[in-house]
Amino acid sequence: TTLFDAVQTENPVDVLRRVWGYPEFRGKQADVIRHVMAGKDALVLFPTGKGKSLCFQLPGVCLPGVTVVVSPLVALMRDQVEELKALGIAAECLWSQQSEEESRAVRARLRAGEIKLIYVTPERVVLPGFAGLFGAVPISLIAIDECHCVSSWGHNFRKDYLGLGKLKELYPGVPRIALTATADPHTRDDIIRQLQLDDAAVFADSFDRPNITYHIAERDNARTQLLRFLRRHDGSSGIVYCLSRRKVEETAAWLNEHGIKARPYHAGMDPAVKAENQDAFRMEEDLCLVATVAFGMGINKPNVRYVAHLDLPSSVEGYYQETGRAGRDGLPSEAFMIYGMQDIVQRQRMIDEGDASDEIKRVERAKLSALLGICETAGCRRKAILSHFGEAAPDRCGNCDTCNNPVETWDGSEQSIKALAAVYRTGERFGTAHVIDVLLGKDTERTRKFGHDELAVFGVGKELPAPAWQSIFRQLLALGYIRVAHDEYGALKLEATAHRVFKKEVAVILRRDAIDTVRKRERGKP
Ligand code: ADP
Ligand code: ZN
Repeated sequence: TTLFDAVQTENPVDVLRRVWGYPEFRGKQADVIRHVMAGKDALVLFPTGKGKSLCFQLPGVCLPGVTVVVSPLVALMRDQVEELKALGIAAECLWSQQSEEESRAVRARLRAGEIKLIYVTPERVVLPGFAGLFGAVPISLIAIDECHCVSSWGHNFRKDYLGLGKLKELYPGVPRIALTATADPHTRDDIIRQLQLDDAAVFADSFDRPNITYHIAERDNARTQLLRFLRRHDGSSGIVYCLSRRKVEETAAWLNEHGIKARPYHAGMDPAVKAENQDAFRMEEDLCLVATVAFGMGINKPNVRYVAHLDLPSSVEGYYQETGRAGRDGLPSEAFMIYGMQDIVQRQRMIDEGDASDEIKRVERAKLSALLGICETAGCRRKAILSHFGEAAPDRCGNCDTCNNPVETWDGSEQSIKALAAVYRTGERFGTAHVIDVLLGKDTERTRKFGHDELAVFGVGKELPAPAWQSIFRQLLALGYIRVAHDEYGALKLEATAHRVFKKEVAVILRRDAIDTVRKRERGKP
């Protein structure tokens, strides 16, 4: 008998205790591990920090043969390999910058069956000679880490990941496990399609972070609002995110002048100062770190009590990830964001005038809308965030600003019926801009071409300006009555719940301030 037979018969939980020193599996880890060790495919959607890596590392240790781990970043790969080696696990990586000598040694050990986990980049695993590297050693499992990189919908598209669709044919019968912390339904569907994971069981863990209080405010005076917020968190540490390096510097300086101990952090700083500020943040218990989003990767401070955003994050995923750096210790923490109409207009302009392809621009617009939907909702923030990730949640969490201080609202049922009817009557084939043209009764080439100027809904929405309708559509999106199709037009589609609005079984309650702001702005125009 070989060493493989010996470890294979060991119970996974015993391996967990012996090798990792952890007493128990967490969450759904045990289910995933049992599933892949039975030779079946899995798609794992766990939020960051819930222990995805163990779901393939432990089977890698237990199964006979070798487990191939596909990872997008060499740095990430090498970190994991170092950690595994420290646990006494035979893990290695193959990457292009490796010395010939090192690479030859790894390949020799692979053929000898001495390596349990081999980390590789996505382009390498589909190369013709790859299977030959293993000689007679069987591949037991293929793990695809950060698998959202295969989706152009996700925030991290990697062209090389598209080739991984071939793995099913290249390695028939070898179970595959794909893992990601991104779980919005679009990305999930994309991953399943692109990676041919139709038969995979999906394991999802809740994205809820119950100890984080969400608070999103419209800007009136950002600095005053921030100062008021920080004074409430006196004596604890947190992060304030800004978009630009200049704003980081200026904000940190201003806070210091106003009695808040703050330090800046961004990629353009002198490396020594940057490292010093990062260390200070790790060590001190009452420091405010003002940073660009570059800060956070690899930061594992458990007692970050707050995360504040002075600028809109790039997407809901970004917002979730950045706010998720608060409260890792499970104690009450707060996520605070200030946003203004200007940010929205500016962001829209950046997308419109950028060099990206139409496809990318469409995705960017949809991401912005999803984020604004959460900013503008009169409903529970947590519910809106979780529903973005396809997760059901109670209507009220009792731990966000809209739950604790209900906002002023208006019954937008009538306008919502108009908006939904316009989506329906135009065949659920058009994006927001065109549907709004129809509502406003605009005489455009498209409205005429499709005969939309003949529809009963044509021009029924003249009582509100276009930006107000945009806000209504975003809120309908956040409330889950519509969704944006993942097609080339970003077409609006009705969700099943929309019929309840048509039948007046539910009232659609919208935020008053969102509409008021738009109206004020419109009135101010010449
Ligand atoms: P993810 O990839 O989901 O963000 P990781 O795999 O990096 O998460 O795991 C996050 C942390 O949790 C790591 O420090 C890991 O060692 C630890 N961890 C994972 N599983 C367990 C467990 N069953 N018990 C205790 N700690 C665990
Ligand atoms: Zn709530």
